[in-house]
This record gives sequence, structure tokens and C-alpha cells, in this order.
Amino acid sequence: MIGAWCFVDHFGPTEQTDGMVVAAHPHTGLQTVTWLFEGQIEHRDSIGSVQIIRPGQLNLMTAGKGISHSELSQAGPDRLHAVQLWVALPKESIDTAPEFEHQNDLPRFELTDGIEATVLAGKFMEHSARTKTFSPLLGVELKLSPNSGTQIQLDPNFEHGILLADGEISVNAEPVPTSGLFFVPAGAESITILAGKFGATALLLGGQPFGERILMWWNFIGRTHKDIVQARDAWNVRQQKISESRFGEFEDQIGGWIPAPELPSVTLQPR
Ligand code: MN
Repeated sequence: MIGAWCFVDHFGPTEQTDGMVVAAHPHTGLQTVTWLFEGQIEHRDSIGSVQIIRPGQLNLMTAGKGISHSELSQAGPDRLHAVQLWVALPKESIDTAPEFEHQNDLPRFELTDGIEATVLAGKFMEHSARTKTFSPLLGVELKLSPNSGTQIQLDPNFEHGILLADGEISVNAEPVPTSGLFFVPAGAESITILAGKFGATALLLGGQPFGERILMWWNFIGRTHKDIVQARDAWNVRQQKISESRFGEFEDQIGGWIPAPELPSVTLQPR
């Protein structure tokens, strides 16, 4: 984990025809952050949200005690390129009511010559995003023009990671592979980031060390094996067409739903 950031899925760039068709599925105990570089996706969920997301916008879904949603690529753009990030909820907020927010005017500014920053979550260089978070957290997109570079001041109370989505960068003179995550332990006061000759798009993630072990299985985050069993059972009762309120219901253009897989025959342990 990097602070409460607990999962990073970097997908694409792909042809839009191979895009994203993810039928209804549940989440607990986390927030999903969807951020697009290219493409267009429709989000629908069980608290009534229907939201198209485009590059430069942010979808934040707080699952809390339980929500279900689906994600569907939209025709139009040629390619799909995005990240979905998960944020673990601290124990005092793990059962919070589900919420959804869409941000389309996040703070965006020139960090230095040739480097544009967009703040997805938290506060960066005196620019704060309104995104709702439950623990001290930072998320910033950095767009670096060819051969640009800078030293970035960090909060030494945070640990950090730099994800390379596109192009070429080095961090502290070490090259970062595409989709790689360069980890910076807590205590660092700055990093130096340099772009290659094609420029780059990267994400800076940070947060205060989480201080709790979590149990992450399939789309659920809990603390105990029992938490996961209860969430899985509450979702899979759909097979018997029993109305189940924990994850709600909604209509979408995909149809159907994704059942949770079998649990392993061992007791799951938090880590
Ligand atoms: Mn999901």
C-alpha cells in the first residue's frame, strides 16, 4: 500500500472496440477512483448514479458498507487509456453509506515550465481538490513535455509512488517502466523527475502510512475472513433471485451481473 492507496490498475491504450464492458459487481470497504487519459466510459450504480466520464475528469465511488456498479466504454474516441485506483477506508469509516461524486473542474496548474499538474485528491503545492477522502491522501496527474524535469517537494509524513502511464521518465535518476510504480518511502522531502524526449504522463500518489492491515479479496475490502464471507454471500444470493438490499439494484445497457468466485479453502488473513 501507499497510504490508503491499495490497488492500481493501468489499462490501455487499447482500441476502443476492445474497451471496457464490466457488468454489475459489488464493492465494500473502499473507494474507486477512475481517471481517463483517453476514451469515454459510462458508470452506473445502485445509488442511482449515471455518469459519463471523459479525460481530465474524476469519478469517485465510495463503496462503504456496499454498492454495486457497472462500467461501459462509449463509442466515439478511438482509444481507451485509463487507470482505476482503489483507496482502502479506515476502520472507523469502513461501513459508511455509499456515495458517488464526479469532479470536472479539478485544480490544474503549471508546476514549472513544461509540466502541468492536475490534483485528483488532497493538496499539492497549495492547490486542493474537493474530492472526499477518509485519510490523508494525495493524487496528482503530471503531464511532462519532452525533456522537461523538476524537483518536487514531498510531505515527509507521506509515502509516495510514481506510476508511469505513457512516455518515458526517470525518478531520482532511475528509469521507471511503463505501468511501473516507483516507491518512495516516508521521510523523503523531495524527488527529481525527468521526462524523456517524447514527454510523459505520470501519476504521483501519496498518503500517510495506513497503520492497519486490510483484507482485500475480489472486489471487497474488510478486516476479517468473516467480513469477506458475509459480503460474498450477500452478493451471490442473487443467484436465487432473492432481493438483497446490501448492494442495491440498478438497470444498465450491459445486463447481467458478475458472481463472486469461490473462496479458497483456507482462512483469509489481513496483511
Ligand atoms: Mn468496480
